[in-house]
Amino acid sequence: MDKGEPGAFFVYDTLTREKQRVFAEDGETLRFYCCGPTVYGPAHIGNFRTFIAQDLFRRVAECSGMKTMHVRNVTDVDDKTIRDSRAAGKKLDEFTSEWRAFFENDCNSLGLLTPHEEPSAVVHIPQQIKMIEDLFSSGHAYLGEDGSVYFRISSFENYGKLSGLDKREVRTAPSGETMDRDEYSKEDLRDFALWKARREEDGENFWNSPWGEGRPGWHLECSAMCREYLGDSFDMHSGGEDLVFPHHENEIAQSECSTGKAFARHWFHIAHLMVDGGKMSKSLNNMYTLSDLQAKGFVPEAIRYLLLSGHYRQSLNFTLSSLDAASGALTKLKKFDESLGADRPADYSESVARGPTELGPFEDSWKSLLDDLNSPKALGELFGAIREINLDPLSCEEKTRIRDSFWFILHAFGLKLATNDQIAEPPKDVKDLAESRMEARKLKDWGRADELREQIAEKGWTIKDLSDGYELAQA
Ligand code: AMP
Ligand code: ZN
Repeated sequence: MDKGEPGAFFVYDTLTREKQRVFAEDGETLRFYCCGPTVYGPAHIGNFRTFIAQDLFRRVAECSGMKTMHVRNVTDVDDKTIRDSRAAGKKLDEFTSEWRAFFENDCNSLGLLTPHEEPSAVVHIPQQIKMIEDLFSSGHAYLGEDGSVYFRISSFENYGKLSGLDKREVRTAPSGETMDRDEYSKEDLRDFALWKARREEDGENFWNSPWGEGRPGWHLECSAMCREYLGDSFDMHSGGEDLVFPHHENEIAQSECSTGKAFARHWFHIAHLMVDGGKMSKSLNNMYTLSDLQAKGFVPEAIRYLLLSGHYRQSLNFTLSSLDAASGALTKLKKFDESLGADRPADYSESVARGPTELGPFEDSWKSLLDDLNSPKALGELFGAIREINLDPLSCEEKTRIRDSFWFILHAFGLKLATNDQIAEPPKDVKDLAESRMEARKLKDWGRADELREQIAEKGWTIKDLSDGYELAQA
């Protein structure tokens, strides 16, 4: 591929450690897989940094004229989902469905395009079992003394090619929040579980397999679902940088050993969102959810803007003052948009359909997105262009032309510049109060309904009664 070709899209590939041109190898559809959320609580905005970078990747590919197939899984069975569903006294599927719906709600608020497929691990147990059978028959898997099945790392020459780790360096099980306690084999500590034998604490959450009752290992679900939806080989695989090792290394091992073919052609990884110098994570208790920030009066789009204001390959430190700055930047974009003098369409499909030709003042901004999704540079150039444009009055024709290019670039960033009440999703605690109020009204408990209305108002929201429900708006 010619790097000099105008309009080509490049992204840094973790595997080859250089920027690679993004294209559909089959000449038709760019097929890519993103490791999705573990649904046992609300996602935090660190998780969303990763999902927004992947959304930007898809948008830039599509804006460049590519057709895409975007698969993002849902991890709905692992130690954490089982532990927390049992603690909540709920069945696993009931528990994970609730958190999945919560996640989807947040994704909509943040303007994330819905993946074409969102497969869940629990629904693909047969595919995972089949993959283990293939690994057994080719000598890459063995049954441990504890009844679990393990992958034999010594049988895969290329183990470590993504993370740059030598096989011999992988001596002991690495520690970390993503590790399951019984993830590794007693026979060889490097060998990870493909199938975990049933344990007391799993409760009713087990499946039958040729090796007895149990459940699949965490890494296997992604390998099996990639194969199911994208085939043995595909164009791009992505996740947060904490997934490079061991998760992605293990996915490569399982997939390449069971299919005999190269797995993902390229990989892209997103650096962490940090708070006070540490990775934002649930276990460190330093996380912010979208609802937390909405309760402080920020709109989801400001969070999206903030997360785009850092390059995805560099860690980004989260502060509330940077979120204030992001809100200010959005206001400037809205003012500029209004100065162009036409009602913004609900989506920018017409401007996007024209393609990235003749972007005029926004050409540089678009080029920066094509160059390894350099969104901070692209945003800087967008504002630079706006400053230039604002220097002189525009004719009607100029306004129309600029509007079209502006909407194209906004679509690439995934910014809708919606008004506050259009985009502010009520936080979960406000929704819960509204639900309780609806119950109270059904029971004609007007005193309680009034009390709840006041509590909702204290949180900065107003509630309007409708014949079949209610409507929440920011006060
Ligand atoms: P999880 O729900 O823990 O499976 O994580 C979902 C995605 O979020 C994975 O791709 C993680 O690598 C990513 N992730 C987790 N924490 C952060 C963070 N602080 N910054 C960026 N990405 C993250
Ligand atoms: Zn994965």
